[in-house]
Amino acid sequence: MLAIFETVAVTLWLTLDNIFYLLNFSYIGIAISLGIFLYVKKYKNARRIAQLLVGLYMLVYLGFICGENMQIEGFWYYLFTGVFEAATIHYAVAKIFGPLLFGRGWCGYACWTAMVLDFLPYKVPEMSRKEYGWIRYIAFTISLVFVSALFLAHVGNIERIMFWAFIVGNILYYAVGIMLAFAFKDNRAFCKYVCPVTVFLKPMSYFSLFRIECDKSKCISCGKCKKVCPMEVDVTNNSRKRKNGTECILCFECVKNCPKDAL
Ligand code: SF4
Ligand code: SF4
Ligand code: SF4
Repeated sequence: MLAIFETVAVTLWLTLDNIFYLLNFSYIGIAISLGIFLYVKKYKNARRIAQLLVGLYMLVYLGFICGENMQIEGFWYYLFTGVFEAATIHYAVAKIFGPLLFGRGWCGYACWTAMVLDFLPYKVPEMSRKEYGWIRYIAFTISLVFVSALFLAHVGNIERIMFWAFIVGNILYYAVGIMLAFAFKDNRAFCKYVCPVTVFLKPMSYFSLFRIECDKSKCISCGKCKKVCPMEVDVTNNSRKRKNGTECILCFECVKNCPKDAL
Protein backbone atom coordinates (compact mmCIF):
# COMPACT_ATOMS: atom_id res chain seq x y z
CA MET A 1 0.00 0.00 0.00
CA LEU A 2 2.85 2.33 0.88
CA ALA A 3 4.48 1.53 -2.48
CA ILE A 4 1.26 2.48 -4.30
CA PHE A 5 1.04 5.81 -2.49
CA GLU A 6 4.74 6.54 -2.97
CA THR A 7 4.36 5.87 -6.69
CA VAL A 8 1.53 8.40 -6.85
CA ALA A 9 3.51 10.85 -4.66
CA VAL A 10 6.68 10.74 -6.75
CA THR A 11 4.80 10.76 -10.10
CA LEU A 12 2.77 13.85 -9.18
CA TRP A 13 5.78 15.58 -7.61
CA LEU A 14 7.86 15.15 -10.76
CA THR A 15 5.13 15.77 -13.34
CA LEU A 16 3.60 18.80 -11.60
CA ASP A 17 6.93 20.02 -10.21
CA ASN A 18 5.42 20.56 -6.77
CA ILE A 19 6.92 18.96 -3.66
CA PHE A 20 3.59 19.30 -1.85
CA TYR A 21 2.35 16.19 -3.65
CA LEU A 22 5.32 14.17 -2.45
CA LEU A 23 4.68 15.17 1.17
CA ASN A 24 0.88 14.90 0.90
CA PHE A 25 0.66 11.41 -0.60
CA SER A 26 3.59 10.14 1.49
CA TYR A 27 1.78 11.22 4.65
CA ILE A 28 -1.49 9.59 3.56
CA GLY A 29 0.34 6.42 2.49
CA ILE A 30 2.19 6.20 5.82
CA ALA A 31 -1.04 6.79 7.80
CA ILE A 32 -2.92 4.06 5.91
CA SER A 33 0.03 1.66 6.06
CA LEU A 34 0.26 2.25 9.80
CA GLY A 35 -3.44 1.34 10.07
CA ILE A 36 -2.82 -1.88 8.13
CA PHE A 37 0.25 -2.68 10.23
CA LEU A 38 -1.73 -2.20 13.46
CA TYR A 39 -4.52 -4.35 12.03
CA VAL A 40 -2.04 -7.14 11.30
CA LYS A 41 -0.81 -6.76 14.90
CA LYS A 42 -4.46 -7.22 15.96
CA TYR A 43 -4.92 -3.75 17.45
CA LYS A 44 -8.67 -3.31 17.54
CA ASN A 45 -8.77 0.40 16.65
CA ALA A 46 -6.29 0.11 13.77
CA ARG A 47 -8.69 1.33 11.07
CA ARG A 48 -9.90 4.23 13.22
CA ILE A 49 -6.30 5.43 13.74
CA ALA A 50 -5.73 5.62 9.97
CA GLN A 51 -9.15 7.24 9.48
CA LEU A 52 -8.41 9.95 12.07
CA LEU A 53 -4.87 10.60 10.81
CA VAL A 54 -6.00 11.07 7.20
CA GLY A 55 -9.44 12.58 7.87
CA LEU A 56 -8.21 15.23 10.29
CA TYR A 57 -5.29 16.11 8.02
CA MET A 58 -7.62 16.67 5.07
CA LEU A 59 -10.35 18.47 6.98
CA VAL A 60 -8.23 20.67 9.23
CA TYR A 61 -4.99 21.20 7.31
CA LEU A 62 -6.05 21.09 3.64
CA GLY A 63 -9.57 22.38 4.23
CA PHE A 64 -9.55 24.90 7.08
CA ILE A 65 -5.90 26.01 7.03
CA CYS A 66 -5.00 25.84 3.32
CA GLY A 67 -8.52 26.82 2.22
CA GLU A 68 -8.94 24.01 -0.32
CA ASN A 69 -12.49 22.79 -0.92
CA MET A 70 -11.95 19.04 -0.99
CA GLN A 71 -15.64 18.24 -1.20
CA ILE A 72 -17.46 17.47 -4.43
CA GLU A 73 -18.07 21.19 -5.09
CA GLY A 74 -14.30 21.72 -5.03
CA PHE A 75 -13.93 18.92 -7.56
CA TRP A 76 -16.40 20.61 -9.94
CA TYR A 77 -14.70 23.95 -9.37
CA TYR A 78 -11.24 22.75 -10.32
CA LEU A 79 -12.64 20.68 -13.16
CA PHE A 80 -14.39 23.73 -14.68
CA THR A 81 -11.29 25.89 -14.28
CA GLY A 82 -9.35 23.18 -16.11
CA VAL A 83 -6.76 22.88 -13.35
CA PHE A 84 -5.49 19.44 -12.37
CA GLU A 85 -4.75 20.08 -8.71
CA ALA A 86 -6.18 19.86 -5.19
CA ALA A 87 -9.68 18.40 -5.34
CA THR A 88 -9.36 17.07 -8.91
CA ILE A 89 -6.27 15.05 -7.95
CA HIS A 90 -7.92 13.98 -4.69
CA TYR A 91 -11.01 12.77 -6.55
CA ALA A 92 -9.00 11.05 -9.27
CA VAL A 93 -6.86 9.15 -6.75
CA ALA A 94 -9.31 8.43 -3.93
CA LYS A 95 -12.72 8.40 -5.53
CA ILE A 96 -12.65 7.79 -9.28
CA PHE A 97 -9.67 5.72 -10.45
CA GLY A 98 -8.29 4.53 -7.08
CA PRO A 99 -11.46 2.48 -6.35
CA LEU A 100 -10.59 0.29 -9.36
CA LEU A 101 -7.72 -0.90 -7.20
CA PHE A 102 -8.76 -0.49 -3.55
CA GLY A 103 -12.54 -0.20 -3.80
CA ARG A 104 -14.07 2.03 -1.16
CA GLY A 105 -10.98 2.06 1.02
CA TRP A 106 -11.43 5.83 1.12
CA CYS A 107 -14.73 5.35 2.97
CA GLY A 108 -13.19 3.01 5.52
CA TYR A 109 -9.84 4.62 6.16
CA ALA A 110 -9.85 8.29 5.26
CA CYS A 111 -13.19 10.09 4.95
CA TRP A 112 -13.53 12.94 7.43
CA THR A 113 -17.34 12.70 7.43
CA ALA A 114 -17.36 9.02 8.34
CA MET A 115 -14.52 9.70 10.80
CA VAL A 116 -17.10 11.46 12.99
CA LEU A 117 -20.08 9.22 12.14
CA ASP A 118 -18.10 6.13 13.17
CA PHE A 119 -18.04 7.46 16.78
CA LEU A 120 -21.84 7.15 17.00
CA PRO A 121 -23.45 4.16 18.75
CA TYR A 122 -24.85 2.21 15.76
CA LYS A 123 -21.76 0.54 14.31
CA VAL A 124 -23.94 -2.24 12.98
CA PRO A 125 -27.36 -1.14 11.65
CA GLU A 126 -30.25 -1.92 13.97
CA MET A 127 -32.98 -1.23 11.41
CA SER A 128 -33.56 -2.78 8.01
CA ARG A 129 -32.17 -0.93 5.02
CA LYS A 130 -34.42 1.59 3.26
CA GLU A 131 -34.77 2.23 -0.47
CA TYR A 132 -33.55 5.83 -0.22
CA GLY A 133 -30.39 5.50 -2.32
CA TRP A 134 -31.90 7.81 -4.96
CA ILE A 135 -31.24 10.77 -2.64
CA ARG A 136 -27.55 10.60 -3.54
CA TYR A 137 -28.36 11.58 -7.14
CA ILE A 138 -30.25 14.66 -5.94
CA ALA A 139 -27.31 15.68 -3.72
CA PHE A 140 -24.94 15.05 -6.66
CA THR A 141 -27.06 17.18 -9.02
CA ILE A 142 -27.39 20.02 -6.49
CA SER A 143 -23.60 20.20 -6.08
CA LEU A 144 -23.08 20.25 -9.85
CA VAL A 145 -25.80 22.85 -10.47
CA PHE A 146 -24.50 25.04 -7.62
CA VAL A 147 -20.97 25.29 -9.03
CA SER A 148 -22.15 25.51 -12.66
CA ALA A 149 -24.43 28.43 -11.73
CA LEU A 150 -21.50 30.31 -10.18
CA PHE A 151 -19.53 29.97 -13.42
CA LEU A 152 -22.47 30.72 -15.72
CA ALA A 153 -23.38 33.83 -13.73
CA HIS A 154 -19.72 34.97 -13.79
CA VAL A 155 -19.78 35.44 -10.04
CA GLY A 156 -16.59 37.09 -8.76
CA ASN A 157 -14.17 35.56 -6.26
CA ILE A 158 -15.48 32.00 -6.63
CA GLU A 159 -12.45 30.72 -4.74
CA ARG A 160 -13.66 32.47 -1.58
CA ILE A 161 -17.18 31.12 -2.12
CA MET A 162 -15.69 27.65 -2.44
CA PHE A 163 -13.97 28.03 0.93
CA TRP A 164 -17.23 28.97 2.62
CA ALA A 165 -19.07 26.24 0.71
CA PHE A 166 -16.58 23.80 2.25
CA ILE A 167 -17.30 25.05 5.79
CA VAL A 168 -21.09 25.15 5.35
CA GLY A 169 -21.10 21.89 3.38
CA ASN A 170 -19.26 20.07 6.15
CA ILE A 171 -21.52 21.41 8.88
CA LEU A 172 -24.49 20.25 6.79
CA TYR A 173 -22.99 16.81 6.16
CA TYR A 174 -22.27 16.28 9.86
CA ALA A 175 -25.71 17.51 10.93
CA VAL A 176 -27.58 15.37 8.37
CA GLY A 177 -25.25 12.40 8.96
CA ILE A 178 -25.76 12.44 12.75
CA MET A 179 -29.52 12.93 12.40
CA LEU A 180 -29.85 10.02 9.96
CA ALA A 181 -27.64 7.78 12.10
CA PHE A 182 -30.04 8.17 15.02
CA ALA A 183 -33.20 8.11 12.88
CA PHE A 184 -32.23 4.84 11.14
CA LYS A 185 -30.10 3.46 14.02
CA ASP A 186 -27.22 3.17 11.57
CA ASN A 187 -23.95 5.17 11.73
CA ARG A 188 -23.48 4.81 7.98
CA ALA A 189 -27.00 5.85 6.89
CA PHE A 190 -25.58 9.04 5.35
CA CYS A 191 -23.15 6.97 3.27
CA LYS A 192 -25.93 4.64 2.11
CA TYR A 193 -28.57 7.19 1.17
CA VAL A 194 -27.19 10.71 0.81
CA CYS A 195 -23.48 11.01 0.06
CA PRO A 196 -23.09 12.35 -3.51
CA VAL A 197 -19.56 10.95 -3.81
CA THR A 198 -20.99 7.44 -3.98
CA VAL A 199 -22.17 8.26 -7.51
CA PHE A 200 -18.47 7.87 -8.43
CA LEU A 201 -17.50 5.36 -5.77
CA LYS A 202 -20.12 2.70 -6.35
CA PRO A 203 -19.64 1.98 -10.08
CA MET A 204 -15.85 2.20 -9.86
CA SER A 205 -15.56 -0.07 -6.82
CA TYR A 206 -17.67 -2.68 -8.64
CA PHE A 207 -14.47 -3.51 -10.54
CA SER A 208 -12.17 -3.28 -7.51
CA LEU A 209 -9.10 -5.50 -7.53
CA PHE A 210 -8.98 -5.72 -3.71
CA ARG A 211 -12.15 -7.28 -2.35
CA ILE A 212 -13.25 -9.64 0.37
CA GLU A 213 -13.86 -13.15 -0.93
CA CYS A 214 -15.22 -16.22 0.77
CA ASP A 215 -13.53 -19.61 0.70
CA LYS A 216 -16.60 -21.79 0.38
CA SER A 217 -14.71 -24.91 1.45
CA LYS A 218 -14.13 -23.38 4.91
CA CYS A 219 -17.42 -21.49 5.38
CA ILE A 220 -19.97 -23.12 7.72
CA SER A 221 -22.70 -20.55 6.92
CA CYS A 222 -22.86 -19.31 10.51
CA GLY A 223 -23.77 -15.81 9.31
CA LYS A 224 -21.47 -13.96 11.77
CA CYS A 225 -19.81 -11.99 8.96
CA LYS A 226 -23.12 -10.50 7.84
CA LYS A 227 -24.18 -9.67 11.39
CA VAL A 228 -21.13 -7.47 11.97
CA CYS A 229 -21.01 -5.77 8.57
CA PRO A 230 -21.79 -2.04 8.83
CA MET A 231 -22.70 -1.92 5.13
CA GLU A 232 -24.89 -5.03 4.92
CA VAL A 233 -22.76 -6.68 2.24
CA ASP A 234 -23.66 -10.24 1.23
CA VAL A 235 -20.01 -11.09 1.71
CA THR A 236 -20.25 -14.89 1.38
CA ASN A 237 -21.41 -14.47 -2.21
CA ASN A 238 -18.27 -14.03 -4.33
CA SER A 239 -20.07 -12.58 -7.33
CA ARG A 240 -19.40 -8.92 -8.15
CA LYS A 241 -23.17 -8.53 -8.25
CA ARG A 242 -23.54 -9.58 -4.61
CA LYS A 243 -26.04 -7.58 -2.56
CA ASN A 244 -24.55 -4.23 -1.51
CA GLY A 245 -21.23 -5.33 -2.98
CA THR A 246 -20.30 -1.77 -3.99
CA GLU A 247 -20.82 -0.61 -0.41
CA CYS A 248 -17.93 -2.58 1.11
CA ILE A 249 -15.59 -0.17 2.93
CA LEU A 250 -12.92 -2.86 3.55
CA CYS A 251 -13.26 -2.47 7.31
CA PHE A 252 -12.39 -6.17 7.83
CA GLU A 253 -14.97 -6.61 10.60
CA CYS A 254 -16.29 -9.68 8.76
CA VAL A 255 -12.78 -11.11 8.44
CA LYS A 256 -12.04 -10.52 12.14
CA ASN A 257 -15.25 -12.24 13.22
CA CYS A 258 -15.21 -15.28 10.95
CA PRO A 259 -14.62 -18.33 13.17
CA LYS A 260 -13.27 -20.37 10.25
CA ASP A 261 -10.92 -17.85 8.60
CA ALA A 262 -12.99 -18.27 5.48
CA LEU A 263 -12.81 -14.62 4.38
S1 SF4 B 1 -19.92 7.32 1.45
FE1 SF4 B 1 -19.36 9.48 1.45
S2 SF4 B 1 -19.53 10.15 3.59
FE2 SF4 B 1 -19.51 7.91 3.58
S3 SF4 B 1 -17.40 7.40 3.88
FE3 SF4 B 1 -17.71 7.41 1.68
S4 SF4 B 1 -17.19 9.48 1.00
FE4 SF4 B 1 -17.42 9.53 3.24
S1 SF4 C 1 -17.64 -6.10 7.25
FE1 SF4 C 1 -16.59 -7.01 5.51
S2 SF4 C 1 -18.06 -6.91 3.80
FE2 SF4 C 1 -18.77 -5.53 5.40
S3 SF4 C 1 -17.92 -3.54 4.83
FE3 SF4 C 1 -16.49 -4.48 6.26
S4 SF4 C 1 -15.01 -5.55 4.96
FE4 SF4 C 1 -16.79 -5.08 3.68
S1 SF4 D 1 -18.45 -15.85 9.41
FE1 SF4 D 1 -17.10 -17.14 8.16
S2 SF4 D 1 -17.93 -19.20 8.44
FE2 SF4 D 1 -19.51 -17.78 9.13
S3 SF4 D 1 -20.81 -17.44 7.30
FE3 SF4 D 1 -19.26 -15.84 7.32
S4 SF4 D 1 -17.60 -16.65 6.05
FE4 SF4 D 1 -18.89 -18.37 6.60
